[in-house]
Amino acid sequence: MEYQKVLNDIYNEVSKLPKVGSVATSIPELAKVDPDKFGLYLTTFEGKNFSLGDYQEKFSIQSISKVLTLTMALTFLDEKIWERVSVEPSGNAFNSLVQLEYEQGIPRNPFINAGALVIADMLVTVLKDPKQDFLAFIRMLTGIPTIDFNLNVAKSEKETGFRNAAMANFLKSYGNIKNDVDTVLDFYFHQCSVEMSCKELAQAFYFLTNGGRTQTGKRILSKSQVKRTNALMQTCGFYDESGEFTYKVGLPGKSGIGGGIVALLPEKFVVATWNPRLNKKGNSELGMKSLELLTTKTELSIF
Ligand code: GLN
Repeated sequence: MEYQKVLNDIYNEVSKLPKVGSVATSIPELAKVDPDKFGLYLTTFEGKNFSLGDYQEKFSIQSISKVLTLTMALTFLDEKIWERVSVEPSGNAFNSLVQLEYEQGIPRNPFINAGALVIADMLVTVLKDPKQDFLAFIRMLTGIPTIDFNLNVAKSEKETGFRNAAMANFLKSYGNIKNDVDTVLDFYFHQCSVEMSCKELAQAFYFLTNGGRTQTGKRILSKSQVKRTNALMQTCGFYDESGEFTYKVGLPGKSGIGGGIVALLPEKFVVATWNPRLNKKGNSELGMKSLELLTTKTELSIF
């Protein structure tokens, strides 16, 4: 497969499209990002790398971090997680509170904010130094010791994160947050503020294409846990646009409001895209388009 040619062709096509969407403004610090950055990075199962544009530039991974916190929680708690979070697509926005009351404080899945807050609470319980231990986990996954939080982004979200604060308190009222609400929110805002490039994200997610092992062979998850994590990305990775992403792209993936998307095909490739212009659902418009072109041109998808 001539992946580099495919990536170049994708870039030629998407660069001709009209510029739609705008950068996230819910976190003031994110609004400062150049909306026209564009990066693509693809790593094959065999370890070959292909890249384009701003693939080395770091950006805020935001909700992409929810896959990494889920992974970390799985390593400690495995199936016990699902006593406190469900595995159903929500059909609602990532920051919606609406289903929580009907479902007695059990979030629909770990990739909407409510579910990620419960996972964050689990990690605050099991980790000695939650923020540093989470960073150490990502550094271990990638082999890159410089991956870090952007403290300005974490602070900016803390100052404006009233909806997440409401959600965490609401969850606490049902007993589904066990720790101090502010401690859980602080961990959550930091996990979202982690900065990584497309290249680093592809390295971090490689284990999900490789049956649970990193590029250096370290086992992170069992094969069954990988199947479950990929299934959740397929069904819930894009909130109320998960059906659309599955329909158009046909890969498990996860987006973030920093404009990044990671997607993968087991035993074939992992790919990361970055363009900060978001559509109405909070997903990167050009990222989705690029991945749609990738699976159309290569004829490689889950389906
Ligand atoms: N930190 C963001 C929030 O909680 C993450 C949302 C996202 O990337 N979709 O609102």
